[in-house]
Amino acid sequence: MTSVFKFGGTSVKDGKCIRHVAKLVEAYRKEHLVVVCSALDGVTDELILLSEDARKGTERPVEERLRRLRVIHERVLRQTLRQQQSRRRAARFLAPTLDQLERTARGAATLRELTPRSKDLILSSGERMSTPIVAGALSEVGLKADYLTGGEAGVITDDNFGDAMPLVETSKLQIQQTLGPMVESGRIPVVAGYIGLTQTGDLTTLGRGGSDFTATLIASALIADEVWIWSDVDGLMTADPRIVKDARLLKQVSYSEAGEMAVLGAKALHPRTLEPVAELGIPDRFTNTLNPRNE
Ligand code: ASP
Ligand code: MG
Repeated sequence: MTSVFKFGGTSVKDGKCIRHVAKLVEAYRKEHLVVVCSALDGVTDELILLSEDARKGTERPVEERLRRLRVIHERVLRQTLRQQQSRRRAARFLAPTLDQLERTARGAATLRELTPRSKDLILSSGERMSTPIVAGALSEVGLKADYLTGGEAGVITDDNFGDAMPLVETSKLQIQQTLGPMVESGRIPVVAGYIGLTQTGDLTTLGRGGSDFTATLIASALIADEVWIWSDVDGLMTADPRIVKDARLLKQVSYSEAGEMAVLGAKALHPRTLEPVAELGIPDRFTNTLNPRNE
């Protein structure tokens, strides 16, 4: 039995939430598991604003946002991880990513120019900072977890930066080769969602909400039995409950119904999320991290 669990930004918004996620993984995982993570809640929005400020060359806001992003991630790392060893391990990924983010944003601000490629370097940093912390939290509850970027996991895309499309067959093959043996040996790959790599080695992003797509792509490559999309609502709903008060929970929907909702802008799902799983009939379950027992 192979499952893919994807945790959205609200599920990993701070140290307490991430430790809770680790407990959920421990409690709900079956035999083989891959975990996919989003950036910390609000971080992708912040990175988009940062890239806009950098493009305009407005130094003060750029520095302010960079400082906030550093503070948030360093704090969440400390809040989440209690053991010296796992802190050090997560910091080994976090520190260079923060440095690279700062260099890229400052470079763009100096030039008042931001190429699509540099923008993706910036946008992809959210998942590259959150995911190693989540991997550390899984290790601290005794699970054998390894952090990988999307590219390292085998998500290979075209170079349509900002809305890159995975080269599906190539990616599936790579994912099978990298994640397959890890999962078989009982390890849990913890993969940064939303991001991929071009064939020439540039970081790309898959478009907003793309972590869901990462999860279903991995599920289809591994011919997984199920995908669980963990978030902060009880399931797929008729509307966003933060906006529409009487939004209803949908007990069950077909792939095409859910796909239509995604394409029509319900925003609950990245538009391509269901393509890989619909083909193989892999069921997707939407689960609330704060109410996991809800069917
Ligand atoms: N962090 C990205 C976003 O906010 C991807 C995702 O969460 O699925 O769009
Ligand atoms: Mg989402």
